[in-house]
Amino acid sequence: MKYYSTNGQAPIADLEKAVVKGLAEDRGLYMPEEIYKLPQAFFDDIQNMKFQDIAYNVASNFFGDDVDGDALQDLVYDTLSFDCPVVKVTDQIYALELFHGPTLAFKDVGARFMARLLRYFTSLSGSTSNLINVLVATSGDTGSAVANGFLGVEGIHVYVLYPKGKVSPIQECQFTTLGKNITAIEVDGVFDDCQALVKSAFMDQELNEHMKLTSANSINVARFLPQAFYYFNAYARMKALGLADQLVMCVPSGNFGNICSALFGHQMGLPIKRFIAANNANDIFYKYLQTGKYEPRASVQTLANAMDVGAPSNFARILNLYSENGQLTPEATHHRITNLISGATYKDEQIRKTMQQCYEETGYVLDPHGACGYQALKDGLKPGEIGVFCETAHPAKFKEKVDDILGTDIEIPARLKAFMEGQKQSVEMSKEFADFKAYLMKQ
Ligand SMILES: *Cc1c(COP(=O)(O)O)cnc(C)c1O
Repeated sequence: MKYYSTNGQAPIADLEKAVVKGLAEDRGLYMPEEIYKLPQAFFDDIQNMKFQDIAYNVASNFFGDDVDGDALQDLVYDTLSFDCPVVKVTDQIYALELFHGPTLAFKDVGARFMARLLRYFTSLSGSTSNLINVLVATSGDTGSAVANGFLGVEGIHVYVLYPKGKVSPIQECQFTTLGKNITAIEVDGVFDDCQALVKSAFMDQELNEHMKLTSANSINVARFLPQAFYYFNAYARMKALGLADQLVMCVPSGNFGNICSALFGHQMGLPIKRFIAANNANDIFYKYLQTGKYEPRASVQTLANAMDVGAPSNFARILNLYSENGQLTPEATHHRITNLISGATYKDEQIRKTMQQCYEETGYVLDPHGACGYQALKDGLKPGEIGVFCETAHPAKFKEKVDDILGTDIEIPARLKAFMEGQKQSVEMSKEFADFKAYLMKQ
């Protein structure tokens, strides 16, 4: 499979290049040249297949040309060492729980898959001196998913840059206590300073000659595409219940990587009737659906902070997909998109109310992100439809907020506790690039 850039000015890349580079030379996002339909026989039998086998079929469709079959199967099985169950919340609404991985948030699957795919490519090249260094800036959740996804993966070292004192203790311990091939760098600054350091590092020629650098950003094809596995599995489980005929899939969205993978699944033939993108107060996509105009702006802080995005990076992919790489007019593209996807947007006050109501009426504990998805289904489902929303994070990741809103004392899962008991290790760093560069040059 070859990958082109949404900006159309960069050379076509193979999978390895698309994964190692992340972003194309023209700052566009990589798109696969073909999205093959899966055969009808696969969908006929899908309810009898287990998650890993469903995922292997989906992965083969994208990566089968580039990764040897047995290796790809190992890679998928190893990535999916935990389940993503569908749980009934009401008669019409089901939660797709994507939080049973190592860091209790859905980004685990993409991060684990990407780490193993990079490892596969470096092992092919056979060179031991070819250590890949992943730089990632985080305001909390991405750092933990990437660090844990890459933990112990040979040939790769990860540097997580985070703003000192600005991530929650629960988040911090998930990437500062790991050791091994993970180095946490505590930057005396804010998130934007961390991101600026990473960007400067990628542009510094001397540094790039000294060491092989790559990013594990969520726009990476190896991080977003594997998320399609979730939606095929959810369909299979709902089909087994006899509830898959009019399925509406609702995805709480920030950078739109997760919903984008679901839309790729739909292009591969997954019979989802329609999609809902649930936003918090950052309603840029919602407004696009209403008006046809895409107007990014600065993000605002909300309770569902992993969705606080003012310029969703995967929007370009969605446009590219439904405009058939720019062949359709903006109006025709907008029409196609609104036929398949609707939107919803909720302010913090509504998120709180939704969490309380859902807990009172059903006993189900929503986290603030999942709450947007649940409410969007409550507001948007039509008679006869069944809705599945993604529960994107375990409520215990936001324990203080959740307990405060619900008056609960929710239990912290054992693996989260284990992080909290670990020893913090971090490298203190100023926000000056010269300091960061000097540090990396010594590695
Ligand atoms: C990253 C994240 C989201 C948003 O996902 P996108 O792919 O960026 O749209 C939603 N909820 C949680 C908990 C997340 O960590």
